[in-house]
Amino acid sequence: MSLPRAKSETGDPLLLTPGPLTTSKSVKQAMLHDWGSRDPAFIALNRRVLEGLAEIAGGDGLVTVPMQGSGTFAVEAMIGTLVPRDGKLLILINGAYGQRAGKIADRAARAWTALETAEDTPPDIATLSAALDADPAITHVFAVHCETTSGILNPIAEIADAVAAKDRRLLVDSMSAFGALEINAAKVRYDALAASSNKCLEGVPGLGFVLCREDALRAAAGNAHALSLDLADQFLALERTGQYRFTPPIHVIAALAQALDEHRDEGGVAGRGGRYRRNCRTLIDGLRDLGFETLLPDRLQAPIIVTFRMPGHPNFSFQTFYDALAERGFLIYPGKLTVAESFRIGCIGRLDERDMAGAVEAVRDVMTQMKVPTGAAA
Ligand SMILES: *Cc1c(COP(=O)(O)O)cnc(C)c1O
Repeated sequence: MSLPRAKSETGDPLLLTPGPLTTSKSVKQAMLHDWGSRDPAFIALNRRVLEGLAEIAGGDGLVTVPMQGSGTFAVEAMIGTLVPRDGKLLILINGAYGQRAGKIADRAARAWTALETAEDTPPDIATLSAALDADPAITHVFAVHCETTSGILNPIAEIADAVAAKDRRLLVDSMSAFGALEINAAKVRYDALAASSNKCLEGVPGLGFVLCREDALRAAAGNAHALSLDLADQFLALERTGQYRFTPPIHVIAALAQALDEHRDEGGVAGRGGRYRRNCRTLIDGLRDLGFETLLPDRLQAPIIVTFRMPGHPNFSFQTFYDALAERGFLIYPGKLTVAESFRIGCIGRLDERDMAGAVEAVRDVMTQMKVPTGAAA
């Protein structure tokens, strides 16, 4: 093996995935303590985290409701709490996370309908407006900000404007975008937005959260179908006592406090997003040089995760490619597309342009070893 093995600050392989991600050493070090979950020190730390998240979102009247668990727990809590039992959801689907929202609505016994487009196609705004006109029963629209299935950036501001124009409420899954891509609540009108600790905020996994318009959240008390996923109940308990109803992931929250400090030090959303855009550019330019093809044109590509079409050369084997990259310290991600064979490489986490240039060199090295002259798709 000609190249030195890439590694993180703590000697681990670099995670070129959609999360969990490579985190800084200082974020992991923040977990080397214990806190009493009902002790004032932890309550203050937690409050700082919740306020910090609302600050990133921008806009007044927003509150952060934390939800123990992975991001899906937050999405499920958002749908189950914000959509009333007699409400109806219109889900904008162009990938697996939109599909998942439909499954969640089924379990919560909420009526729903979908506006589905192909995995490489954002929703059409005129079609969305027409769908809202055609079905007055629809109370809420669910949209995915960056659909991580493909890496496509959905036009969230235009969606929000269209939904507000028809006097409906918007729920956003911004899991893989929040903290790196601009979605300012003062400009983009939504009732709730779900995200998690371990994506663009570069914390460790274990805490989801939902940014809610406080009036919408208070009006939603009593809607939820599940006690543990009841955001209104969670909010009211935290407001009253400063404490979680059930065991909080204290180490995860401490790590998130440190991650938010590092986010601020990097220049907030603009700084974080800028680094990811440079990572993404380095990756795409480098792999295109080797003949690889991206699923998406650049104008639809979010700088979060890139889908590449599977090379068509007969010598190429994805398993060999994956293993050889892992040996060189880069963990990539299988594709999740239904339409085409593909794999994905993430641009997020504690990684910079040099790491991405290293990944490109590792790909070049592995292609030579596999005797695959070009990454071109079949
Ligand atoms: C990661 C992600 C989620 C949540 O996934 P978990 O595995 O539950 O953390 C939801 N939506 C999108 C768009 C995501 O990228």
